[in-house]
Amino acid sequence: MANVKKPIYVTEPVLPPLEEFIPYLQEIWDKKILTNGGPFHQQLEKELCDYLGVEHLALFTNGTIALITALQALRISGEVITTPYSFVATSHSLLWNGIKPVFVDIDPHTLNLDPDKIEAAITPQTTAIMPVHCYGHPCDVDRIQKIADNYGLKVIYDAAHAFGVQNNDGSILNHGDLSILSFHATKVFNTFEGGAIVCPDAKTKQRIDHLKNFGFVNEVTVVAPGINGKMSELNAAFGLLQLKGIDEVLQKRKVIDNKYREGLAGVKGIHCLVDEGGQVANYSYFPILIQADYPLGRDALYQKLKDNDIYARRYFYPLISEFPMYRGLPSATQANLPVATKAANQIICLPIYPILEASDQEKIISLILTS
Ligand SMILES: *Cc1c(COP(=O)(O)O)cnc(C)c1O
Repeated sequence: MANVKKPIYVTEPVLPPLEEFIPYLQEIWDKKILTNGGPFHQQLEKELCDYLGVEHLALFTNGTIALITALQALRISGEVITTPYSFVATSHSLLWNGIKPVFVDIDPHTLNLDPDKIEAAITPQTTAIMPVHCYGHPCDVDRIQKIADNYGLKVIYDAAHAFGVQNNDGSILNHGDLSILSFHATKVFNTFEGGAIVCPDAKTKQRIDHLKNFGFVNEVTVVAPGINGKMSELNAAFGLLQLKGIDEVLQKRKVIDNKYREGLAGVKGIHCLVDEGGQVANYSYFPILIQADYPLGRDALYQKLKDNDIYARRYFYPLISEFPMYRGLPSATQANLPVATKAANQIICLPIYPILEASDQEKIISLILTS
């Protein structure tokens, strides 16, 4: 059949030419070091620190184990204030630590945790705040830190979307007590699966390094009930190769982002989210809100795109607070979360990835224009 086009998904993973990965594999086969903080693991930690502009970073097998371990590293317990407008792993990491999530509503412009609403949710049990730099758009880090300082709370950023993002002070990852990255296949920078904790000092990194290796300090000493969170040499080697192409990846994403903004400018009822805090953005998602004055409802537009083999995604619908393991919490009600509830009902993330073809993007834009 002629003219059969492949479906367009919200993202497609970046994969360098296979032959460029072979020399890394050869080195692993020669050295026979497969994991446990081997040479590629050490090199990737160093190169990522340099690239991201951070002091210390501990690689992990994925972002979720990194989140769970970060909470362990800071001995967080009791209640943690977080956003319902995220991927479930954010809150799941709290439940895996026996911590009670307390959902606070989001800001209508950034869709990040609303600093104005945090204080009212603090109780004597609150120990930390876990915000998300949603879509890679920076949170109001200064105001969040001020609240945390006033109440003696830790701040752990779920920065899974925020690889390479900078605000006026440099890397966004240098804010809070810890930041967590994900290198999952769907993220801007991928190592197939992977993640990292960014930490401010060597001592904290050492504790995290022990925790990700069962709590081992040496052959005979175990200091904590650690987990196995180590990134393998295979993933680390792949990360080193990916890092060589990351600037080109971000540049291509920027071009696609700009083209959507131009193409959708002035369309009644379509609001393209604006990154307000970013000096350097990563264009990891292209979120639009489908508002009441658009001729189609959100789900109708989502379906129309689907009927045309375009698989946009409704990130983040449903809200985390709607899932069965959360919806009984006092903070999980729609009355407590009106802004997040509205955003979840209006959001669509459009396809954005480096090899998205111009003609495909034009088709997506014209489908939205002609509704
Ligand atoms: C992807 C993601 C995670 C989980 O990361 P994994 O590496 O897939 O475990 C956590 N939080 C957010 C906001 C994410 O988007």
